[in-house]
Amino acid sequence: MQIDPSGTGFGTPGWHAAAACRSLPKSLFFPVGTTGTAADDIVVAKTVCGTCEVRASCLAFSLVTEQHYGVWGGTDEQERSSLRRVYRAAGLEAAVAAAFDGTSTSARSA
Ligand code: SF4
Repeated sequence: MQIDPSGTGFGTPGWHAAAACRSLPKSLFFPVGTTGTAADDIVVAKTVCGTCEVRASCLAFSLVTEQHYGVWGGTDEQERSSLRRVYRAAGLEAAVAAAFDGTSTSARSA
């Protein structure tokens, strides 16, 4: 039986090897709640994301795989929820999926 270490059902993405958060506690990126120390953790996590070279891939992954919890690609849960509403309303699902799998987003204009 193969184990999915990411817990997403998609395995560990290749870009994860370069993640700035790789050696940090997961609790920093998945705090419980949004107030008090959790709010502090979210700020720190987003700061780490700001230094991360795979931020765009991380964000695209989180959107495509519907990650509703935690900080991904420098965004918190509410920010990703807003992003999903905006790009779905604009019909940009294919562009987001292309960003996730590394293909050109210009395919959308075809
Ligand atoms: S963008 Fe943030 S959550 Fe995503 S891999 Fe980088 S440090 Fe981790």
